[in-house]
Amino acid sequence: MLRLTDTQTKTVREVTPATPGVLTVYACGPTVYRYAHVGNLRTFLLTDLVRRTAELGGLRVRLVQNITDVGHLADDTSLDATGEDKLLTQARLEDKSPFAIARFYEDAFHRDLALLNVRPADSSPRASEWIPSMISLISRLIDAGSAYVGGDGSVYFAARSYDGYGGLSGNRLEDLRAGHREDAAALAAGKRFHADWALWKLAGTAREMVWDSPWGSGFPGWHIECSAMSLDLLGPVIDLHTGGIDLRFPHHEDERAQSNAATVAAGAPSGHEVVRHWVHGEHLLFEGRKMAKSTGNVVLVSDVVDKGHDPLALRLAFLSSRYRQQANLSWDAIAGADRTLTRWRTSVATWAEQPSEAMDAATHDAVLEAFEDDLDTPRALQALRRLEKDDSVGPGAKFETFVWADRLLGLDLARLVGQPVEQAVLPPGAAELLAARAEARAAKDFSASDRLRDELGALAVAVKDTPEGQEWSLS
Ligand code: AMP
Ligand code: ZN
Repeated sequence: MLRLTDTQTKTVREVTPATPGVLTVYACGPTVYRYAHVGNLRTFLLTDLVRRTAELGGLRVRLVQNITDVGHLADDTSLDATGEDKLLTQARLEDKSPFAIARFYEDAFHRDLALLNVRPADSSPRASEWIPSMISLISRLIDAGSAYVGGDGSVYFAARSYDGYGGLSGNRLEDLRAGHREDAAALAAGKRFHADWALWKLAGTAREMVWDSPWGSGFPGWHIECSAMSLDLLGPVIDLHTGGIDLRFPHHEDERAQSNAATVAAGAPSGHEVVRHWVHGEHLLFEGRKMAKSTGNVVLVSDVVDKGHDPLALRLAFLSSRYRQQANLSWDAIAGADRTLTRWRTSVATWAEQPSEAMDAATHDAVLEAFEDDLDTPRALQALRRLEKDDSVGPGAKFETFVWADRLLGLDLARLVGQPVEQAVLPPGAAELLAARAEARAAKDFSASDRLRDELGALAVAVKDTPEGQEWSLS
Protein backbone atom coordinates (compact mmCIF):
# COMPACT_ATOMS: atom_id res chain seq x y z
CA MET A 1 0.00 0.00 0.00
CA LEU A 2 1.44 3.37 -1.07
CA ARG A 3 2.10 5.90 1.71
CA LEU A 4 2.80 9.57 1.01
CA THR A 5 3.45 12.69 3.07
CA ASP A 6 0.24 14.67 3.40
CA THR A 7 0.90 18.39 3.57
CA GLN A 8 -2.31 19.06 5.46
CA THR A 9 -1.77 16.67 8.38
CA LYS A 10 2.05 16.71 8.07
CA THR A 11 2.06 12.93 8.40
CA VAL A 12 2.90 10.03 6.09
CA ARG A 13 -0.48 8.50 5.33
CA GLU A 14 -1.74 5.58 3.31
CA VAL A 15 -3.19 6.55 -0.05
CA THR A 16 -6.60 4.91 -0.13
CA PRO A 17 -9.02 5.61 -2.97
CA ALA A 18 -12.53 6.74 -1.98
CA THR A 19 -13.88 4.54 -4.76
CA PRO A 20 -12.26 1.12 -4.36
CA GLY A 21 -9.89 0.31 -7.18
CA VAL A 22 -9.74 3.79 -8.75
CA LEU A 23 -7.35 6.51 -7.60
CA THR A 24 -8.27 10.01 -8.75
CA VAL A 25 -5.37 12.45 -9.02
CA TYR A 26 -5.24 16.13 -9.93
CA ALA A 27 -1.83 17.57 -10.76
CA CYS A 28 -1.26 21.27 -11.30
CA GLY A 29 0.13 21.61 -14.80
CA PRO A 30 2.44 24.12 -16.42
CA THR A 31 1.88 27.75 -17.27
CA VAL A 32 2.63 27.61 -20.96
CA TYR A 33 4.45 30.86 -21.69
CA ARG A 34 7.94 29.32 -21.71
CA TYR A 35 9.72 25.94 -21.81
CA ALA A 36 9.41 23.86 -18.64
CA HIS A 37 12.77 23.84 -16.84
CA VAL A 38 14.12 20.69 -15.26
CA GLY A 39 12.92 21.87 -11.81
CA ASN A 40 9.34 21.89 -13.12
CA LEU A 41 9.96 18.45 -14.58
CA ARG A 42 11.07 17.07 -11.23
CA THR A 43 7.63 18.02 -9.90
CA PHE A 44 5.83 16.47 -12.89
CA LEU A 45 7.89 13.30 -12.37
CA LEU A 46 6.52 13.08 -8.81
CA THR A 47 3.01 12.48 -10.16
CA ASP A 48 4.33 9.86 -12.60
CA LEU A 49 6.03 7.97 -9.75
CA VAL A 50 2.83 8.05 -7.69
CA ARG A 51 0.91 6.74 -10.65
CA ARG A 52 3.31 3.90 -11.46
CA THR A 53 3.44 2.77 -7.83
CA ALA A 54 -0.35 2.87 -7.47
CA GLU A 55 -0.80 0.95 -10.72
CA LEU A 56 1.66 -1.71 -9.70
CA GLY A 57 -0.39 -2.05 -6.50
CA GLY A 58 -3.45 -2.85 -8.64
CA LEU A 59 -5.20 0.55 -8.76
CA ARG A 60 -6.51 2.24 -11.86
CA VAL A 61 -5.33 5.84 -11.86
CA ARG A 62 -7.38 8.68 -13.33
CA LEU A 63 -5.04 11.62 -13.72
CA VAL A 64 -6.05 15.14 -14.69
CA GLN A 65 -3.32 17.71 -15.30
CA ASN A 66 -4.38 21.17 -16.39
CA ILE A 67 -2.71 23.53 -18.81
CA THR A 68 -2.66 27.11 -17.50
CA ASP A 69 -2.90 29.20 -20.63
CA VAL A 70 -4.65 32.23 -19.16
CA GLY A 71 -4.85 34.35 -16.07
CA HIS A 72 -1.55 33.58 -14.38
CA LEU A 73 -0.24 37.00 -13.52
CA ALA A 74 3.37 38.00 -13.35
CA ASP A 75 2.93 38.57 -9.63
CA ASP A 76 0.20 36.36 -8.18
CA THR A 77 1.55 36.53 -4.70
CA SER A 78 1.09 40.22 -4.15
CA LEU A 79 -2.04 41.04 -2.25
CA ASP A 80 -3.13 43.35 -4.97
CA ALA A 81 -2.36 41.27 -8.05
CA THR A 82 -2.66 43.79 -10.81
CA GLY A 83 0.33 42.56 -12.81
CA GLU A 84 0.13 41.52 -16.43
CA ASP A 85 -0.72 38.03 -17.60
CA LYS A 86 2.54 36.13 -18.22
CA LEU A 87 1.28 34.89 -21.57
CA LEU A 88 0.51 38.36 -22.83
CA THR A 89 3.96 39.58 -21.83
CA GLN A 90 5.61 36.69 -23.70
CA ALA A 91 3.34 37.17 -26.73
CA ARG A 92 4.50 40.77 -26.98
CA LEU A 93 8.15 39.74 -26.64
CA GLU A 94 7.86 37.07 -29.37
CA ASP A 95 5.48 39.14 -31.51
CA LYS A 96 2.93 36.32 -31.67
CA SER A 97 -0.65 35.89 -30.54
CA PRO A 98 -1.03 34.66 -26.95
CA PHE A 99 -2.81 31.53 -28.19
CA ALA A 100 0.08 30.73 -30.56
CA ILE A 101 2.48 31.10 -27.62
CA ALA A 102 0.34 28.86 -25.44
CA ARG A 103 0.03 26.08 -28.04
CA PHE A 104 3.73 26.19 -28.86
CA TYR A 105 4.85 25.76 -25.24
CA GLU A 106 2.09 23.27 -24.49
CA ASP A 107 3.40 21.03 -27.30
CA ALA A 108 6.95 21.48 -26.03
CA PHE A 109 5.77 20.49 -22.53
CA HIS A 110 4.26 17.22 -23.81
CA ARG A 111 7.44 16.46 -25.76
CA ASP A 112 9.61 17.05 -22.68
CA LEU A 113 7.42 14.76 -20.59
CA ALA A 114 7.71 12.04 -23.25
CA LEU A 115 11.51 12.38 -23.27
CA LEU A 116 11.49 11.72 -19.52
CA ASN A 117 9.07 8.77 -19.83
CA VAL A 118 6.44 10.70 -17.86
CA ARG A 119 3.22 9.22 -19.16
CA PRO A 120 0.53 11.66 -20.31
CA ALA A 121 -2.46 12.45 -18.11
CA ASP A 122 -5.86 11.00 -19.00
CA SER A 123 -7.07 14.52 -19.44
CA SER A 124 -5.16 17.81 -19.94
CA PRO A 125 -7.84 20.53 -19.84
CA ARG A 126 -6.87 24.00 -21.00
CA ALA A 127 -7.98 26.86 -18.77
CA SER A 128 -8.92 28.92 -21.83
CA GLU A 129 -11.47 26.24 -22.81
CA TRP A 130 -12.97 26.07 -19.34
CA ILE A 131 -14.18 29.65 -18.89
CA PRO A 132 -17.97 29.00 -18.84
CA SER A 133 -17.53 26.48 -16.04
CA MET A 134 -15.38 28.93 -14.05
CA ILE A 135 -18.03 31.61 -14.49
CA SER A 136 -20.71 29.26 -13.22
CA LEU A 137 -18.57 28.25 -10.21
CA ILE A 138 -17.94 31.91 -9.38
CA SER A 139 -21.70 32.60 -9.60
CA ARG A 140 -22.38 29.76 -7.18
CA LEU A 141 -19.78 31.12 -4.76
CA ILE A 142 -21.42 34.55 -4.90
CA ASP A 143 -24.85 32.98 -4.25
CA ALA A 144 -23.43 31.05 -1.29
CA GLY A 145 -22.00 34.23 0.26
CA SER A 146 -18.40 33.11 -0.28
CA ALA A 147 -17.64 35.71 -2.94
CA TYR A 148 -18.68 39.25 -3.81
CA VAL A 149 -18.37 41.87 -6.51
CA GLY A 150 -15.81 44.37 -5.25
CA GLY A 151 -15.88 48.12 -5.47
CA ASP A 152 -13.82 47.95 -8.67
CA GLY A 153 -16.24 45.52 -10.39
CA SER A 154 -13.94 42.48 -10.10
CA VAL A 155 -15.15 39.44 -8.16
CA TYR A 156 -13.31 38.42 -4.99
CA PHE A 157 -13.42 35.39 -2.72
CA ALA A 158 -14.23 36.45 0.86
CA ALA A 159 -11.41 34.75 2.74
CA ARG A 160 -13.10 35.25 6.14
CA SER A 161 -16.18 33.35 4.95
CA TYR A 162 -14.21 30.10 4.90
CA ASP A 163 -13.49 28.86 8.43
CA GLY A 164 -10.82 26.36 7.53
CA TYR A 165 -8.57 28.90 5.80
CA GLY A 166 -4.91 28.19 6.52
CA GLY A 167 -5.38 24.47 7.14
CA LEU A 168 -3.02 23.55 4.35
CA SER A 169 -0.23 26.11 4.64
CA GLY A 170 -0.53 27.21 8.25
CA ASN A 171 -1.06 30.80 7.07
CA ARG A 172 -3.96 31.87 9.24
CA LEU A 173 -5.82 34.97 8.16
CA GLU A 174 -4.95 36.81 11.34
CA ASP A 175 -1.23 36.30 10.53
CA LEU A 176 -1.70 37.51 6.99
CA ARG A 177 -2.04 41.12 7.98
CA ALA A 178 -0.41 43.14 5.30
CA GLY A 179 1.64 46.23 5.96
CA HIS A 180 -0.32 49.44 6.30
CA ARG A 181 0.29 50.64 2.75
CA GLU A 182 -0.60 47.31 1.11
CA ASP A 183 -3.75 47.17 3.22
CA ALA A 184 -4.80 50.54 1.96
CA ALA A 185 -3.99 49.63 -1.65
CA ALA A 186 -5.92 46.33 -1.46
CA LEU A 187 -8.95 47.98 -0.05
CA ALA A 188 -8.75 50.84 -2.53
CA ALA A 189 -8.66 48.24 -5.33
CA GLY A 190 -12.11 47.09 -4.33
CA LYS A 191 -11.58 44.23 -1.87
CA ARG A 192 -13.36 44.17 1.45
CA PHE A 193 -10.47 42.49 3.22
CA HIS A 194 -6.80 42.58 2.23
CA ALA A 195 -6.43 38.77 2.04
CA ASP A 196 -9.40 38.26 -0.31
CA TRP A 197 -8.33 37.19 -3.79
CA ALA A 198 -9.71 37.77 -7.25
CA LEU A 199 -11.89 35.13 -8.92
CA TRP A 200 -12.74 37.27 -11.94
CA LYS A 201 -10.74 40.30 -12.97
CA LEU A 202 -12.19 42.97 -15.16
CA ALA A 203 -10.35 43.40 -18.43
CA GLY A 204 -9.66 47.11 -18.07
CA THR A 205 -7.87 48.11 -21.24
CA ALA A 206 -6.86 44.52 -22.13
CA ARG A 207 -8.22 43.30 -25.49
CA GLU A 208 -6.72 39.83 -25.74
CA MET A 209 -7.55 36.74 -23.72
CA VAL A 210 -10.66 38.28 -22.24
CA TRP A 211 -14.15 36.78 -22.07
CA ASP A 212 -17.67 38.05 -21.46
CA SER A 213 -19.14 37.36 -18.06
CA PRO A 214 -22.07 38.55 -15.93
CA TRP A 215 -19.58 40.98 -14.31
CA GLY A 216 -18.23 42.34 -17.59
CA SER A 217 -15.42 41.44 -19.93
CA GLY A 218 -12.46 39.98 -18.08
CA PHE A 219 -10.49 36.88 -17.22
CA PRO A 220 -10.39 34.36 -14.36
CA GLY A 221 -7.96 34.31 -11.45
CA TRP A 222 -5.41 31.50 -11.49
CA HIS A 223 -6.73 29.63 -8.42
CA ILE A 224 -10.34 29.31 -9.64
CA GLU A 225 -9.12 27.53 -12.78
CA CYS A 226 -7.92 24.51 -10.85
CA SER A 227 -11.07 24.39 -8.69
CA ALA A 228 -13.32 24.38 -11.79
CA MET A 229 -11.32 21.85 -13.78
CA SER A 230 -10.73 19.45 -10.88
CA LEU A 231 -14.36 19.48 -9.68
CA ASP A 232 -15.73 19.06 -13.21
CA LEU A 233 -13.45 16.21 -14.21
CA LEU A 234 -12.95 14.35 -10.94
CA GLY A 235 -15.99 15.29 -8.84
CA PRO A 236 -16.36 16.51 -5.25
CA VAL A 237 -13.98 13.91 -3.80
CA ILE A 238 -10.42 13.79 -5.16
CA ASP A 239 -8.01 11.27 -3.70
CA LEU A 240 -4.76 13.06 -4.35
CA HIS A 241 -3.60 16.52 -5.41
CA THR A 242 0.02 17.13 -6.39
CA GLY A 243 2.21 20.12 -7.17
CA GLY A 244 5.47 21.84 -6.30
CA ILE A 245 5.93 23.18 -2.79
CA ASP A 246 5.59 26.82 -3.91
CA LEU A 247 1.98 26.07 -4.89
CA ARG A 248 1.00 25.19 -1.30
CA PHE A 249 0.36 28.88 -0.67
CA PRO A 250 -1.50 30.77 -1.96
CA HIS A 251 -2.53 28.61 -4.95
CA HIS A 252 -3.61 25.45 -3.15
CA GLU A 253 -4.80 27.16 0.02
CA ASP A 254 -7.12 29.30 -2.10
CA GLU A 255 -8.18 26.41 -4.35
CA ARG A 256 -9.06 24.41 -1.25
CA ALA A 257 -11.22 27.21 0.17
CA GLN A 258 -13.05 27.67 -3.15
CA SER A 259 -13.64 23.97 -3.83
CA ASN A 260 -14.72 23.15 -0.28
CA ALA A 261 -17.03 26.18 -0.04
CA ALA A 262 -18.68 25.38 -3.38
CA THR A 263 -19.14 21.71 -2.51
CA VAL A 264 -20.66 22.46 0.89
CA ALA A 265 -22.99 25.00 -0.75
CA ALA A 266 -24.06 22.20 -3.12
CA GLY A 267 -25.06 19.96 -0.21
CA ALA A 268 -21.90 18.30 1.12
CA PRO A 269 -21.66 18.19 4.93
CA SER A 270 -20.00 21.17 6.56
CA GLY A 271 -16.24 20.64 6.85
CA HIS A 272 -16.16 18.50 3.70
CA GLU A 273 -12.68 18.29 2.17
CA VAL A 274 -12.65 17.82 -1.58
CA VAL A 275 -9.00 16.78 -1.65
CA ARG A 276 -8.22 13.87 0.64
CA HIS A 277 -4.43 13.96 0.35
CA TRP A 278 -2.17 16.88 -0.65
CA VAL A 279 1.31 15.98 -1.85
CA HIS A 280 4.00 18.56 -2.60
CA GLY A 281 7.40 18.08 -4.19
CA GLU A 282 10.33 20.07 -2.83
CA HIS A 283 12.24 22.33 -5.13
CA LEU A 284 15.19 21.58 -7.31
CA LEU A 285 18.38 23.59 -7.00
CA PHE A 286 21.00 23.59 -9.72
CA GLU A 287 24.67 23.92 -8.75
CA GLY A 288 23.44 25.14 -5.36
CA ARG A 289 21.05 27.82 -6.56
CA LYS A 290 17.26 27.79 -6.81
CA MET A 291 16.10 27.00 -10.31
CA ALA A 292 13.77 29.74 -11.48
CA LYS A 293 13.38 31.97 -14.47
CA SER A 294 13.52 34.99 -12.18
CA THR A 295 17.03 34.08 -10.94
CA GLY A 296 18.27 33.22 -14.45
CA ASN A 297 19.29 29.76 -13.24
CA VAL A 298 17.38 27.62 -15.70
CA VAL A 299 18.30 24.32 -17.38
CA LEU A 300 16.04 22.77 -20.03
CA VAL A 301 15.80 19.16 -21.22
CA SER A 302 17.19 20.39 -24.55
CA ASP A 303 20.33 21.66 -22.73
CA VAL A 304 20.84 18.18 -21.29
CA VAL A 305 20.44 16.60 -24.75
CA ASP A 306 22.73 19.21 -26.33
CA LYS A 307 25.46 18.15 -23.91
CA GLY A 308 25.19 14.63 -25.34
CA HIS A 309 23.26 13.10 -22.43
CA ASP A 310 20.34 10.75 -22.60
CA PRO A 311 17.35 12.70 -21.23
CA LEU A 312 16.57 9.71 -19.02
CA ALA A 313 19.85 10.42 -17.20
CA LEU A 314 17.89 13.36 -15.77
CA ARG A 315 15.17 11.00 -14.61
CA LEU A 316 17.73 8.74 -12.91
CA ALA A 317 19.39 11.78 -11.33
CA PHE A 318 15.99 12.85 -9.92
CA LEU A 319 15.37 9.35 -8.55
CA SER A 320 18.62 9.66 -6.60
CA SER A 321 16.92 12.03 -4.17
CA ARG A 322 13.56 11.82 -2.48
CA TYR A 323 10.76 14.08 -3.73
CA ARG A 324 10.10 15.59 -0.31
CA GLN A 325 13.66 16.82 0.02
CA GLN A 326 15.31 19.67 -1.84
CA ALA A 327 17.66 18.27 -4.43
CA ASN A 328 20.81 19.89 -5.72
CA LEU A 329 21.40 18.85 -9.31
CA SER A 330 24.65 19.46 -11.18
CA TRP A 331 26.16 18.64 -14.55
CA ASP A 332 28.43 16.13 -12.78
CA ALA A 333 25.41 14.37 -11.28
CA ILE A 334 23.72 14.17 -14.69
CA ALA A 335 26.89 12.80 -16.32
CA GLY A 336 27.22 10.24 -13.51
CA ALA A 337 23.61 9.18 -13.93
CA ASP A 338 24.17 8.85 -17.69
CA ARG A 339 27.11 6.48 -17.07
CA THR A 340 25.04 4.37 -14.67
CA LEU A 341 22.22 4.25 -17.21
CA THR A 342 24.56 3.00 -19.94
CA ARG A 343 26.10 0.44 -17.59
CA TRP A 344 22.73 -0.87 -16.45
CA ARG A 345 21.35 -1.10 -19.99
CA THR A 346 24.48 -2.89 -21.17
CA SER A 347 24.29 -5.30 -18.22
CA VAL A 348 20.59 -5.97 -18.78
CA ALA A 349 21.29 -6.77 -22.46
CA THR A 350 24.14 -9.10 -21.46
CA TRP A 351 22.08 -10.84 -18.76
CA ALA A 352 19.26 -11.27 -21.31
CA GLU A 353 21.43 -13.71 -23.23
CA GLN A 354 21.41 -16.16 -20.29
CA PRO A 355 18.52 -18.47 -19.38
CA SER A 356 15.78 -16.68 -17.49
CA GLU A 357 15.40 -17.32 -13.73
CA ALA A 358 12.87 -16.24 -11.14
CA MET A 359 13.27 -12.66 -9.91
CA ASP A 360 15.45 -12.04 -6.88
CA ALA A 361 12.75 -11.87 -4.23
CA ALA A 362 14.76 -9.83 -1.71
CA THR A 363 15.48 -7.08 -4.25
CA HIS A 364 11.93 -7.14 -5.59
CA ASP A 365 10.55 -6.63 -2.07
CA ALA A 366 13.12 -3.98 -1.18
CA VAL A 367 12.37 -1.92 -4.30
CA LEU A 368 8.61 -2.17 -3.88
CA GLU A 369 8.74 -1.34 -0.17
CA ALA A 370 10.98 1.65 -0.84
CA PHE A 371 8.60 3.08 -3.46
CA GLU A 372 5.57 2.45 -1.25
CA ASP A 373 7.32 4.08 1.71
CA ASP A 374 6.73 7.68 0.63
CA LEU A 375 8.64 7.19 -2.64
CA ASP A 376 12.02 6.45 -1.09
CA THR A 377 13.62 6.20 -4.52
CA PRO A 378 17.26 6.45 -3.30
CA ARG A 379 16.68 3.30 -1.22
CA ALA A 380 15.22 1.49 -4.25
CA LEU A 381 18.28 2.41 -6.34
CA GLN A 382 20.57 1.15 -3.58
CA ALA A 383 18.84 -2.24 -3.61
CA LEU A 384 19.39 -2.49 -7.37
CA ARG A 385 23.06 -1.51 -7.04
CA ARG A 386 23.49 -4.26 -4.44
CA LEU A 387 21.89 -6.81 -6.76
CA GLU A 388 24.07 -5.70 -9.68
CA LYS A 389 27.21 -6.58 -7.69
CA ASP A 390 25.88 -9.73 -6.04
CA ASP A 391 27.74 -12.72 -7.52
CA SER A 392 25.47 -15.20 -5.76
CA VAL A 393 22.54 -14.19 -7.99
CA GLY A 394 22.45 -15.52 -11.56
CA PRO A 395 22.23 -13.29 -14.65
CA GLY A 396 18.75 -14.55 -15.56
CA ALA A 397 17.41 -13.47 -12.16
CA LYS A 398 19.15 -10.09 -12.38
CA PHE A 399 17.62 -9.57 -15.81
CA GLU A 400 14.07 -10.30 -14.63
CA THR A 401 14.44 -8.14 -11.50
CA PHE A 402 15.82 -5.09 -13.34
CA VAL A 403 13.17 -5.33 -16.05
CA TRP A 404 10.42 -5.57 -13.43
CA ALA A 405 11.86 -2.64 -11.43
CA ASP A 406 11.87 -0.56 -14.60
CA ARG A 407 8.07 -0.46 -14.49
CA LEU A 408 8.57 1.90 -11.54
CA LEU A 409 11.82 3.52 -12.58
CA GLY A 410 10.87 4.22 -16.21
CA LEU A 411 14.49 4.23 -17.44
CA ASP A 412 14.21 2.04 -20.57
CA LEU A 413 16.63 -0.43 -19.01
CA ALA A 414 15.83 -3.10 -21.62
CA ARG A 415 16.60 -0.73 -24.52
CA LEU A 416 19.69 -2.61 -25.68
CA VAL A 417 18.31 -6.12 -25.36
CA GLY A 418 18.78 -7.97 -28.64
CA GLN A 419 21.06 -5.30 -30.11
CA PRO A 420 24.80 -5.60 -30.71
CA VAL A 421 25.69 -4.02 -27.38
CA GLU A 422 28.94 -2.37 -28.45
CA GLN A 423 27.30 -0.52 -31.32
CA ALA A 424 24.36 0.51 -29.23
CA VAL A 425 26.28 2.09 -26.37
CA LEU A 426 28.23 4.48 -28.58
CA PRO A 427 26.93 8.03 -28.27
CA PRO A 428 25.08 9.36 -31.32
CA GLY A 429 27.45 10.26 -34.15
CA ALA A 430 30.44 8.35 -32.73
CA ALA A 431 30.10 5.31 -35.03
CA GLU A 432 30.33 7.64 -38.07
CA LEU A 433 33.40 9.39 -36.65
CA LEU A 434 35.09 6.02 -35.98
CA ALA A 435 34.40 4.90 -39.56
CA ALA A 436 35.76 8.18 -40.94
CA ARG A 437 38.88 7.84 -38.78
CA ALA A 438 39.51 4.27 -39.98
CA GLU A 439 39.34 5.57 -43.55
CA ALA A 440 41.64 8.50 -42.77
CA ARG A 441 44.24 6.13 -41.30
CA ALA A 442 44.00 3.79 -44.27
CA ALA A 443 44.69 6.83 -46.47
CA LYS A 444 47.56 7.85 -44.13
CA ASP A 445 45.85 11.20 -43.52
CA PHE A 446 47.15 11.53 -39.97
CA SER A 447 46.05 15.11 -39.37
CA ALA A 448 42.44 14.13 -40.17
CA SER A 449 42.86 11.06 -37.99
CA ASP A 450 44.07 13.20 -35.04
CA ARG A 451 41.24 15.69 -35.50
CA LEU A 452 38.70 12.85 -35.51
CA ARG A 453 40.28 11.42 -32.35
CA ASP A 454 39.70 14.79 -30.64
CA GLU A 455 36.10 14.89 -31.85
CA LEU A 456 35.55 11.38 -30.48
CA GLY A 457 37.19 12.46 -27.22
CA ALA A 458 34.63 15.24 -26.94
CA LEU A 459 31.94 12.55 -27.11
CA ALA A 460 33.72 10.65 -24.32
CA VAL A 461 34.96 7.94 -26.72
CA ALA A 462 38.67 7.15 -26.33
CA VAL A 463 40.49 5.55 -29.29
CA LYS A 464 43.69 3.56 -29.24
CA ASP A 465 45.58 2.36 -32.31
CA THR A 466 46.69 -1.28 -32.31
CA PRO A 467 48.23 -3.49 -35.03
CA GLU A 468 44.67 -4.84 -35.59
CA GLY A 469 43.26 -1.33 -36.15
CA GLN A 470 41.69 1.22 -33.84
CA GLU A 471 40.00 0.15 -30.61
CA TRP A 472 37.60 2.34 -28.71
CA SER A 473 36.28 2.56 -25.16
CA LEU A 474 33.96 4.91 -23.33
CA SER A 475 36.02 7.28 -21.22
P1 AMP B 1 4.68 26.68 -13.44
O1 AMP B 1 4.76 26.28 -14.88
O2 AMP B 1 5.54 27.84 -13.10
O3 AMP B 1 3.25 26.88 -12.98
O4 AMP B 1 5.29 25.48 -12.58
C1 AMP B 1 4.99 24.14 -12.84
C2 AMP B 1 5.31 23.27 -11.64
O5 AMP B 1 6.71 23.28 -11.34
C3 AMP B 1 4.62 23.69 -10.35
O6 AMP B 1 4.10 22.54 -9.70
C4 AMP B 1 5.72 24.33 -9.54
O7 AMP B 1 5.46 24.20 -8.16
C5 AMP B 1 6.90 23.50 -9.95
N1 AMP B 1 8.23 24.16 -9.77
C6 AMP B 1 8.57 25.44 -10.03
N2 AMP B 1 9.90 25.65 -9.77
C7 AMP B 1 10.41 24.46 -9.34
C8 AMP B 1 11.71 24.01 -8.91
N3 AMP B 1 12.77 24.81 -8.91
N4 AMP B 1 11.83 22.71 -8.53
C9 AMP B 1 10.76 21.86 -8.55
N5 AMP B 1 9.51 22.23 -8.95
C10 AMP B 1 9.33 23.51 -9.34
ZN1 ZN C 1 -3.37 24.43 -9.87
